[in-house]
Amino acid sequence: MSALVEVAGLSKHFPLPRTLAARIARRPAQIVRAVSGVDLAIARGETLGLIGESGCGKSTLGRLILRLHEPSAGAIRFDGQAIEAVPEPELRPLRRRMQIVFQDPYASLNPRRTVQEILALPLRLHEQLSGQAAEARIVAMLDRVGLARAHLGRFPHQFSGGQRQRIGIARALILRPDFVVCDEPVSALDVSVQAQVLALLRELRDEMGLTYLFISHDLAVVAHLSNRVAVMYLGRIVEQGGRDAVLASPAHPYTQALLAAVPRIGADGRVVARARAAPGELPSPLAPPPGCAFHPRCPFAGPRCRAEVPALKPLAGDGRIVACHQHDGGVG
Ligand code: SF4
Repeated sequence: MSALVEVAGLSKHFPLPRTLAARIARRPAQIVRAVSGVDLAIARGETLGLIGESGCGKSTLGRLILRLHEPSAGAIRFDGQAIEAVPEPELRPLRRRMQIVFQDPYASLNPRRTVQEILALPLRLHEQLSGQAAEARIVAMLDRVGLARAHLGRFPHQFSGGQRQRIGIARALILRPDFVVCDEPVSALDVSVQAQVLALLRELRDEMGLTYLFISHDLAVVAHLSNRVAVMYLGRIVEQGGRDAVLASPAHPYTQALLAAVPRIGADGRVVARARAAPGELPSPLAPPPGCAFHPRCPFAGPRCRAEVPALKPLAGDGRIVACHQHDGGVG
């Protein structure tokens, strides 16, 4: 399968606004290293799950790929075309083909616009479609996501969380895109509604031949939809491979910790384990630890881990890549 989306060496480093005291003391601006040197490729029709704790840079990476953030460095190719430096007006035809479903459907929908207005806007901007032709497309899309013509004149606050996310999905898909970044699309929803929205995203992917980057902090949610999984820690990919291989035998200690934190259901039907993903907190991207950024939380850390950043290297056997000294000569 050919890659629809490819990134190489992609980085985003944000300078923080300097405080008055810092300006007086002439201290340089602090830099948030949100994403550092990420390489990945997503094949047409594939879903790549991107997993990691909140604050690890997943959403920033998704927005960089869509050029909603400007990269600090690196290359982005979409359908064979380099887009990392394309000016916004030239990017416009590609915007139709690259869409996003946001985590919080309420915050991402204009509260003063009706459902019809929300869905009509992309049709007007990208396809110059209006009137009855636009309405027919809107009604068909609403029907496909489980909403009805009767909802056209309602405002976002008149819907439940699950219905609002269906509107967000309809808005993302009404232009019939090729690639969709699903950024924590169910984490703001009740557990009972999550499964329905995940099933809808899966059906739409299969029907419309979509390619997803599916971002979540929840490994169980990522596992549900993904063909491959990439694990992110403090701005870097630390493990990437086929879903089943990664979940059956995680190679990176951080992936192992994430997997151990997935709740299990006991014989009596109760949740029997819900450990933290790893001891301690995610370090600040303002001052990432030297060497392997995971070393302060890693039970296997050795002297080499504190001094040397591990490179992503292939793991023998199953096409996986892992960034851990344990798999590359040892930690000593
Ligand atoms: Fe742990 Fe060292 Fe591997 Fe980092 S490189 S994950 S600290 S063993």
